[in-house]
Amino acid sequence: TRGHYLLHSAELQEAAEYRHFLHEAIAHAAERGELRLLYQPQLDREGRVTGAEALLRWEHLEKGLIPPDVFIPIAEERGAIIDIGRWVLEEGCRELGRWLEAAPFSLRLAVNVSPHQLLSPVLIEDLRRLCQQDDRLTHCLEVEITETGIMESSDRALDRLAEIADLGLRIAIDDFGTGHSSLARLRHFPVQVLKIDRGFVSEMHLNPSDAALVKTIIDLAHTLGFEVVAEGVETAEQHAMLLDMGCDIFQGYHFSKPVSGEEFLEYARRRTDGPGKMVATP
Ligand code: C2E
Ligand code: MG
Ligand code: MG
Repeated sequence: TRGHYLLHSAELQEAAEYRHFLHEAIAHAAERGELRLLYQPQLDREGRVTGAEALLRWEHLEKGLIPPDVFIPIAEERGAIIDIGRWVLEEGCRELGRWLEAAPFSLRLAVNVSPHQLLSPVLIEDLRRLCQQDDRLTHCLEVEITETGIMESSDRALDRLAEIADLGLRIAIDDFGTGHSSLARLRHFPVQVLKIDRGFVSEMHLNPSDAALVKTIIDLAHTLGFEVVAEGVETAEQHAMLLDMGCDIFQGYHFSKPVSGEEFLEYARRRTDGPGKMVATP
């Protein structure tokens, strides 16, 4: 009906305006102090905290919290992701520096990098400079790039990955399993870590074929020499299944949601204190 159509077009109009607004606003988010990083702990098979993933939050002064799934793709389109990614790296490394001062054990920080960012020369220059300033970062910093990001990539992107690996940094493939790529092909990339997409993890206990898939990914990944991280671990049951399958590292709400840098350090201390639970500093 006509009324329905009007409502529909008004909604479309509103969505388009919101997008336009985000396009404009994201470019100024960093300078306006609206960006902040949260850190989600990662634990090993013994329950020790090995490090965290940095997750970006945009808190717009009037609109409130805008999720990264909404604004990252928009920032990608406009190239604003270059500056934002730069802010993430600087802020993340500052925080990592604090942890390394404060904790008696080594901690890693994983930072998400988008395909556009990977192609820009800015990223590798920044990484090189940061590692030169503080060579502890070389052992502690990890770069995450999504499987789809890497598979659609040109040779130029693969060259960039090789440059990052040459610095000595670890590279993780994020959301693995969503991009239909073969592990055999990944073997030729300078990648050390596979993160199994949380979509598989969340259905694992209900759906035997998802469980079989996760098990197969873990076995093949190990054969090819990758470390395996499970993301989105929400229940003790999922954790137990993944332990049983030989998964190396665990991340998810079952352990902790993403928290501030200070809260993360506190969490790491609590979980990793005591004799025999210490992780040696490299
Ligand atoms: P991701 O890198 O795969 O990050 C994992 C996402 O899963 C995070 O969402 C995290 O909060 C969420 N998560 C963690 N544990 C659980 C769980 O147990 N259950 C459920 N349901 N979810 C869980 P978040 O923070 O909303 O980030 C979404 C995506 O945005 C990230 O996915 C990443 O691709 C992107 N992103 C976040 N920060 C950055 C950044 O600094 N740079 C770039 N380029 N992308 C980022
Ligand atoms: Mg990630
Ligand atoms: Mg992921």
